[in-house]
Amino acid sequence: MSRSAHPAGPRHADVLPEGHYTAPADDLNALDPKVWAHTVGRDADGVVTVGGIAVTQLAEEYGTPAYILDEADFRDRARAWRTAFGTDADVFYAGKAFLSRAVVRWLDEEGLNLDVCSGGELATALSAGMPAERIAFHGNNKSPEEIERAVRAGVGRIVLDSFQEIVRVAHTAESLGKRQRVQIRVTVGVEAHTHEFIATAHEDQKFGIPLADGQAAEAVRRALQLDGLDVIGIHSHIGSQIFDMSGFEVAAHRVVGLLKDVRDEHGVELAEIDLGGGLGIAYTSDDDPREPHEIAKALHEIVTRECEGARLRTPRISVEPGRAIVGPTAFTLYEVGTVKPLEGLRTYVSVDGGMSDNIRTALYDAEYSVALASRTSDAEPMLVRVVGKHCESGDIVVKDAFLPGDLAPGDLIAVPATGAYCRSMASNYNHAMRPPVVAVRDGAARVIVRRETEEDLLRLDVG
Ligand SMILES: *Cc1c(COP(=O)(O)O)cnc(C)c1O
Repeated sequence: MSRSAHPAGPRHADVLPEGHYTAPADDLNALDPKVWAHTVGRDADGVVTVGGIAVTQLAEEYGTPAYILDEADFRDRARAWRTAFGTDADVFYAGKAFLSRAVVRWLDEEGLNLDVCSGGELATALSAGMPAERIAFHGNNKSPEEIERAVRAGVGRIVLDSFQEIVRVAHTAESLGKRQRVQIRVTVGVEAHTHEFIATAHEDQKFGIPLADGQAAEAVRRALQLDGLDVIGIHSHIGSQIFDMSGFEVAAHRVVGLLKDVRDEHGVELAEIDLGGGLGIAYTSDDDPREPHEIAKALHEIVTRECEGARLRTPRISVEPGRAIVGPTAFTLYEVGTVKPLEGLRTYVSVDGGMSDNIRTALYDAEYSVALASRTSDAEPMLVRVVGKHCESGDIVVKDAFLPGDLAPGDLIAVPATGAYCRSMASNYNHAMRPPVVAVRDGAARVIVRRETEEDLLRLDVG
């Protein structure tokens, strides 16, 4: 379907405004399996169900808004990545996408490793029993306390992001009588987002050490001289929501080029390369993500080919999918509060959450889809903008979508693919209380992160 289509038959508008939207699906009640979690469907009454439980029941029990997470789907996707990459590669789930103790246990049970990027994420991982050697610690400005905690805990790797950090981690490890396994994060001059990538000579961003001007080679040179560090490999992360493998191809080419230079200069063949995360998911029916096995095959082929060309032993590969594992497994369930038609424009549908539970639309113009969840409807489609209850006109959850024209206050609507970067980026703006995460599996639901309460808010406010 084409963008900016002007479909026939919407209510409230003879001419649809210009916008970035897709024509309404033939059947607004249909749930595209691409954007919904695996066990989502509708029951005989037309109510959306997940893991065998109706959303009306979930709303009654846990309230709205709520993130509803399909545990079976999470485990399926984690396992699919694990299986696709096999035993000669490692899959690190990027905890920043969404992390809780239940998630850590699922990852542990499914054989995945875990990326953390703060002391808080590290504490969550350790408290749920993730073995420290399966944790990688990231970040461009880890505090001395975070570094010490990670080294003491015995994390499997720290990803070094600057010259200062090389020295800090080395000193910390030495003073604790340890040798810390590290990777050096480089910027390869590739930026990939969705369907495009740009290769530039110089990358103007805060992460990593540039390959350009020999800075990355200098970082390896210094790190190899420090007793506190065991340099196990090179790390590269090129972007987010990527569908096109060509960015990874250029990144692998450049990283392997560095491995070759390191071998030639130091006689050392670094054992690992980490190609980061950023693999895309379907937020709307227009998105066509690749399957883990296709991605694994492509990355293995790229790295093997590059290493053969450079006469290097093929290093162990690791990848760090966050969004691609958790993103599609959850949807946000909202109750409609008001429905406000604006003649000649669109209908504003206000829900009981908003930018405090999903900042992605306001932050980077993310696209989402939405469905009426508490019933089906045969009414004509109407163009809507789903907005929150916050005091910002940019408080938009779904910018342009179609919902049935008889939508009314009290209806439940669901926004799919909100598992990644929604709860983890949630805020208390307007003193909103962050919604719970409810995990559903085989007809049973349980809260894995509870809803915040006014007591939670007031506890921090010490007067
Ligand atoms: C954010 C991030 C990831 C995960 O990205 P996704 O888009 O969620 O797959 C992986 N590695 C690093 C270093 C990151 O910063």
